[in-house]
Amino acid sequence: MSNDNTVLIVGSVALDSVETPAGRVERALGGAAVYSSVAASFFAPVRLVGVVGEDFPKEHLEFLESRGIDTRGLEVVPDGKTFHWKGAYRDDLNQAETIATELNVFQSFKPKLPEDYRDSQFVFLANIDPDLQLDVLDQVRRPKLTACDTMNFWIAGKKAALLEVLRRVDVAFMNDAEARQLTGESNLNRAANEIHRLGPKYVVVKKGEHGAVMYCDQSMCFTAASYPLFDVVDPTGAGDSFAGGFMGYIARIGEVNETNLRRAVIYGSTLASFDVQDFSLNRFKHLTMKEINGRYEEFRQIVSFEPLQ
Ligand code: AMP
Repeated sequence: MSNDNTVLIVGSVALDSVETPAGRVERALGGAAVYSSVAASFFAPVRLVGVVGEDFPKEHLEFLESRGIDTRGLEVVPDGKTFHWKGAYRDDLNQAETIATELNVFQSFKPKLPEDYRDSQFVFLANIDPDLQLDVLDQVRRPKLTACDTMNFWIAGKKAALLEVLRRVDVAFMNDAEARQLTGESNLNRAANEIHRLGPKYVVVKKGEHGAVMYCDQSMCFTAASYPLFDVVDPTGAGDSFAGGFMGYIARIGEVNETNLRRAVIYGSTLASFDVQDFSLNRFKHLTMKEINGRYEEFRQIVSFEPLQ
């Protein structure tokens, strides 16, 4: 079936107003599902599920379609207002400060998957209300790999639904602060173990400029450095780009094993490192597969060392 390596992604589709030490943007294209869909689209076909209002600029839709992303699952609400996130990064670029979260059309959204979306084999529940993540999980038939992401807003406000999502997915992506917030454990290894016990077979903890760690079966099975960038322009979407690159690569290869999961972590880190080099999704607009593979190789070289003689 042609659905075999398609990634289905649900999550926020947003207009973001972001301020960083490098500058600011107002109502730029953003949203967890957008970053992850575009990152995944470098590797595999993507289907997007989400909602926008009539104010969502046509050029953004055209950009998603130019990446080959299937937007039939993106509902447009007449007279509705698109989700708007306003955030700032001050001295610590690993820490976003949320100034406003306007859910708007997401408040009354009920995802209804087009029939052919339901056979998708790779499902990524990007950051959004965990009840919507569950709605999507309920509608897919027999996926090969499911993964979720979340953020402090939902850990604080919708914990029970989030725990249900975690019970049902294979992979959980979280950043270090979220892993600590969810479990109350300050030690990251303990926090990851705790999350693992909640359900997911693989737990991937992203640590911003300090790389990412993957836990398989209650122990750390892989650690990746971060790419040594000298200028970070806008960290927004790094986590989503990571997850999109990870899921896109796994979907392209089609086989979930530890070797491929390690490669997926590096591809995820690679996509995240490109994302932060410009505001919104601007860097992805002129990114090539050759540049992605070149940076993958650089990642490999900076952590390569010889065994003892
Ligand atoms: P990241 O930097 O990868 O954690 O994700 C940034 C994206 O998350 C932005 O583009 C926002 O639009 C989106 N976002 C912010 N708050 C929320 C929320 N409460 N639910 C879903 N998405 C959100």
